[in-house]
Amino acid sequence: MIFSEVIGQKHILERLRYIAQHEKIPHALLFTGSEGSGKLATALAFAQYINCLQPKEHDSCNQCSSCHKFSHLIHPDLHFVFPIYKGSRTSAVCDDFIQEWRDFVLLSPYFNSSDWYDVVAEDKGQPTIYADEAHEIIRKISIKNYEAKYKIIIIYQPERMHIATANKLLKVLEEPPPSTVFILISAQPELLLSTIVSRCQVIKFPTVDDVSLSEFLEKKYPQASTQDIHQSVILSGGNVPQAIRLLEKHESTRHYFTYFVQMVRMAYEINRKKPKTEEQIKWVQEVIQFSKEEQKEFLIYCLRFIRDNFLINLNVRSIIFQSKEEQEFSQKFSPFMPFSTAYPIFQHISKAIYHLERNGNPRIVFTDLIYKISLHF
Ligand SMILES: [Zn+2]
Repeated sequence: MIFSEVIGQKHILERLRYIAQHEKIPHALLFTGSEGSGKLATALAFAQYINCLQPKEHDSCNQCSSCHKFSHLIHPDLHFVFPIYKGSRTSAVCDDFIQEWRDFVLLSPYFNSSDWYDVVAEDKGQPTIYADEAHEIIRKISIKNYEAKYKIIIIYQPERMHIATANKLLKVLEEPPPSTVFILISAQPELLLSTIVSRCQVIKFPTVDDVSLSEFLEKKYPQASTQDIHQSVILSGGNVPQAIRLLEKHESTRHYFTYFVQMVRMAYEINRKKPKTEEQIKWVQEVIQFSKEEQKEFLIYCLRFIRDNFLINLNVRSIIFQSKEEQEFSQKFSPFMPFSTAYPIFQHISKAIYHLERNGNPRIVFTDLIYKISLHF
């Protein structure tokens, strides 16, 4: 990770560059601020920068051997402490999960903690930094640096540390080992021991600004419209992974909208005794290419769309959120969705979901659905 890959946070990056170039590197830094604001991404970029063998004025070279190892998170002097879930094991330390952690962070250092919990605990329990980790931290700081100027210990969510580990960390921070930099990353610093906080240089991250977030999304999703990007940025409140999720959801929803419109048009033609068989075969062929999960998601989208149009038919609009194209289509479609039509269609779609969940043949389920819906136009 290099500084130029961090989204926004211009002032913080300037401050960190200044520290690296003109000041003594602090023994401990505490990055606070809401989730999705880029604390981990910045910590990784800072760690790489202060260890880069040929740093440039504004960024790491990203080419030297140190940069190479830092960017792949495999530098022997780069250590991570993060919440894990040991399940039925009697003991567990972070290094037992280091490969999962590396793969996860390399995918993107922008994530919400619940995303990591899904990987490590899958709803089975509360991820924690256990008491066993205290010994690990002591062991890691007592060995000599292999090659880096600064040994880096990144502690993600230190507020999840067992009290024994927190006390041990406090001891370490009281007598900091040489050439070692701790970077603590916490969205809830109020849960930390105040004695730990007071030994850290605290850097508070604001949420990512709208302009930087928009620019990032435009680059990552060149196909997305300005309106969709704008909407994701506003709804995310400056949380990067949330903005990505909203935009991706929107993209897949748009794709479902197109398939929904095609489906009701085909059903209408069948009802008028003018079935477009070739079109139907092509449509079914495409829909069954979706993953099983997407097929279900598409049907749930259809349910929502039918419900919305039934409500528009009743003139209840206040609880409906639709995109511009959905609104335009609904203007013409909703007059055909009184209760007597919407209800049976709703039931047919629900049944299709039921059959898919029980491994019904998707080709038959979707073909059947078009014909069932055609009975109600
Ligand atoms: Zn370098």
